[in-house]
Amino acid sequence: MNSKPAKPKKLEDDSKSPPPLRPGSTIGILGGGQLGRMTAMAAADMGYHVHVFCPEEDAPAIEVAKSVTNASYRNENAMARFASGVDVVTYEFENIPLGPVEELAKLVPVRPSPHVLKISQHRVLEKEALNAMGVATTPFRPVNSAQELVAATNALGLPSVLKTAQMGYDGKGQIMIDATRHVPSVWPELKCDEAILEGFVRFRMEISVIVARDILGNVECYCPVQNKHEHHILAETIAPAPIPEALAAKAEDIARRIAIGLDLIGLMAVEMFVTRDDDILVNELAPRPHNSGHWTMDACITSQFQQVVRAVCGLPLGSPEHLRKARMINLIGDDVLNWERHTTAPNAKIHLYGKKEVRPGRKMGHVTFLQENNE
Ligand code: AMP
Repeated sequence: MNSKPAKPKKLEDDSKSPPPLRPGSTIGILGGGQLGRMTAMAAADMGYHVHVFCPEEDAPAIEVAKSVTNASYRNENAMARFASGVDVVTYEFENIPLGPVEELAKLVPVRPSPHVLKISQHRVLEKEALNAMGVATTPFRPVNSAQELVAATNALGLPSVLKTAQMGYDGKGQIMIDATRHVPSVWPELKCDEAILEGFVRFRMEISVIVARDILGNVECYCPVQNKHEHHILAETIAPAPIPEALAAKAEDIARRIAIGLDLIGLMAVEMFVTRDDDILVNELAPRPHNSGHWTMDACITSQFQQVVRAVCGLPLGSPEHLRKARMINLIGDDVLNWERHTTAPNAKIHLYGKKEVRPGRKMGHVTFLQENNE
């Protein structure tokens, strides 16, 4: 007798994706900053509720969310209660402790996945993952000691940029090392155990592409935009970037490949350098709405905030097509005190984040100028 063991019965066909979350469902957002605020507003526009989880009691997203949990990301009870009240979770910044997000993902879908978060939290893992997909990045070396720093600067040459592997943003946790520096003494200045040395790129332009991927694997890209930074903080975005069509197509293709390679469900910004030889090097990934995509709120068929809501709720993606060209400026620190002057500017759309305290370097709002007649 030849009796085969019975096949385990499948409870459901796992080739089918789960049905989309219907309006009335609740999106949990980790983080309460302006990106969470604008995501919550887009979610409300589409009939979804938002539950914001963040430690700060006066965070910008709070006043536009239906529910709020003010607790540490490491508060397990608060996280479990949060999970039981939401249908999907997303995040509005990368610097959330990974462990609690991995635990949360056992209880409720987290989109983009904790794997994507893990890669984007660590500059070395991120560059290794990108290179493994055949995507070019700045040349780099992992650095964990003064000795390794010396070896890395010998390999990459000077100038180079030493960055903390984790938790850096807006140029924080970065030291430029040029030939005038005594290299070993730079290491203790960074005050961290894990770092990365990157070759300094003499780029022609900084650009970014915002890419979204839905639950079925469909991908949509916004056009590449040019980003101008002041003191390492984004000051201005020009949309579309003034680059030849072929280069724009190359940038979009890179973003698309990354979204597929990471199995992204959600939205991600890919920051890139355009070199003087028109090569594109990826600098950084941000698996969430991004400051360089704020212009899409006023100039595109689907804003980046609506797009992330669509993607994480399992809806089809909207068109990223832009109806106007646009220029976005950030209102940083004291800039916001002059907000009124933009009220009379033609084609200006003002967005303020409701932050009470003005601090130097703090993003307080932004203004998008829509171009007349698409000139
Ligand atoms: P990041 O935090 O890596 O996005 O860096 C902030 C800004 O610093 C970038 O937008 C660039 O303007 C500049 N920067 C960072 N890394 C490099 C690099 N390897 N070469 C040249 N400029 C860089």
